[in-house]
Amino acid sequence: MLTALLSASELALFQHHYPDTRQQFLAAANKAPRLLYCDAHELPVCAPDGSALFTDCAWIGSDGAKKVLVVISGTHGVEGFTGSAIQADFLQQLASKHWQLADDTAVLLIHGLNAWGMAWLRRCEQTGVDLNRNFIDFEKPLPLNPGYSVLRDALMQSDKHARTETLKEFATQHSQTELEVAISGGQYEDPNGPFFGGTGPTFARSVIESLINEHLLGEKRLAVIDLHTGLGPYGYGEIICDHQPESHGARTAQHWYGDSVTLPFAGTSSSVPKLGLLDYAWHAIMKDESCFVTLEFGTYSVESLFNAILLDHQVHASADFTWSDQATRDAKKIMLSHFYPADDQWREMVLLRARQVIRLALEGLQK
Ligand SMILES: [Zn+2]
Repeated sequence: MLTALLSASELALFQHHYPDTRQQFLAAANKAPRLLYCDAHELPVCAPDGSALFTDCAWIGSDGAKKVLVVISGTHGVEGFTGSAIQADFLQQLASKHWQLADDTAVLLIHGLNAWGMAWLRRCEQTGVDLNRNFIDFEKPLPLNPGYSVLRDALMQSDKHARTETLKEFATQHSQTELEVAISGGQYEDPNGPFFGGTGPTFARSVIESLINEHLLGEKRLAVIDLHTGLGPYGYGEIICDHQPESHGARTAQHWYGDSVTLPFAGTSSSVPKLGLLDYAWHAIMKDESCFVTLEFGTYSVESLFNAILLDHQVHASADFTWSDQATRDAKKIMLSHFYPADDQWREMVLLRARQVIRLALEGLQK
């Protein structure tokens, strides 16, 4: 008889509603050995039903630990259901003593960095900002993305066929990579549009910066894993390293995670180089033998990704947007199906790969 790779209770970690993910995270954190504290950062905005939203942080191990594994979920809201399942599973591995932390190592779990996006089934946060484009120096002139300016009107038009034709034409004239950079590389001109980096630091950015300062994370050896979904081959967990090729960070990632590490700046990743990534805030404080990676679980095509996000932005940009509208519900269904496939096989691949990558990170910190 064949047994499933994961039990029903492990698969049940994949929740569908933000309050359930939070409850599950806090319950699992409180069972973890050596939990030092759980801390809640309340967002200045609410869920569609008016309930409060939080980014929760759990610190496990000594505050004075020299090495810290940081695992982040929900940077892109709707992608956080998967990240939350991975964090809960990790906490269960610790509670069941399958895994034990070395004495000099602590774990910081950041749950629901963009809890608003989880509750509203969006990728951006409450002001329309993609957190993963928000980490730029706002003292300097805002970066330009000329490709986005060219495509902007086409992106927001509701006629999918006409939009697809315009994008195809752009890709033929330039290249598929240039098309993806134009759309998703980051833009700082259009608050209603996709992949908008904002005009100033977001609430979530201030949470990250305060955690870095509060825990003196710049003085630790760090392994940071930011959990995402929606880009790349179905079910595959790509270890995307946005450190510059040949940098200490890239070399550390390759040393720890092996040949499956991909580098957008070397053109070897499903992801193209991007402006304002959350990574860059961590790169700036990292010691040599540390690294930040994005663990990105693929779902469907890039075309499906853009269609889901563009429809969501169109719905929210509409003057008569309401949460209960049929158009809103249709758009949210498409968002969920792209970013969170309701498929046990996909979830098995996700959880097993996540365990592997987290284990490699913990082992890497000991190298
Ligand atoms: Zn993402």
